[in-house]
Amino acid sequence: MKLILLGAPGAGKGTVAKLLTAIDGSVQISTGDILRGAVQAGTELGKKAEAFMKAGDLVPDDLIMGIMEQRLQEPDCEKGFLLDGFPRTIPQAEQLKELLERIGVKLDMAVNIDVAREVILDRLTTRRTCVNPDCQAIYNVKSNPPQKEGVCDKCGSDVVQREDETEEAISNRLATYNEKTAPLIGFYDNEGMLITVDATSSDAVINAIKANLD
Ligand code: AMP
Repeated sequence: MKLILLGAPGAGKGTVAKLLTAIDGSVQISTGDILRGAVQAGTELGKKAEAFMKAGDLVPDDLIMGIMEQRLQEPDCEKGFLLDGFPRTIPQAEQLKELLERIGVKLDMAVNIDVAREVILDRLTTRRTCVNPDCQAIYNVKSNPPQKEGVCDKCGSDVVQREDETEEAISNRLATYNEKTAPLIGFYDNEGMLITVDATSSDAVINAIKANLD
């Protein structure tokens, strides 16, 4: 399947994407994961992106489009891909449309995961993430803690609170979402590609996606 996952930070895009990859081998492409990996590895991209990310601001569109133009043409995308955290602005969505037309790829749909603000705030402040750039497993101190505190069940690396998950950065990320990313809901609705799922459980989101793919 070829999907765009839309939704505020903390809506569950990453969790849903990981569950969907198990269904048909589609790959999860998270621009946030790619950027965090680049920051940790100290690459040129990472150096350019770091300050924006720490403040909860968006990284400039041209950097993101440079990453995605390459990534979407890698062979593993042929089976399908789940775009998690991209596009995040109208210019990114327009450039993605042009890129997909150019490389002859058709999307199945854009899924808007709609979750109440209180749930989002609670999730983001209690979320913990594995520091290993190749793992980045997500935990929650309340609902899904690692078996040993601070240690990833999957790879044994440290599990920490992300630097952009302080209260100040979270509130900036949510404001940025409302201003820059929420307009994409109207964009994909106009394209006739949007489904909205009003659900806090990832299983309910998966079921709604499956029902719309059939
Ligand atoms: P995420 O893990 O998706 O919440 O992304 C973490 C941070 O990476 C965001 O707050 C942005 O600073 C940056 N980022 C991720 N994806 C994008 C994107 N498509 N456009 C601009 N910035 C992005």
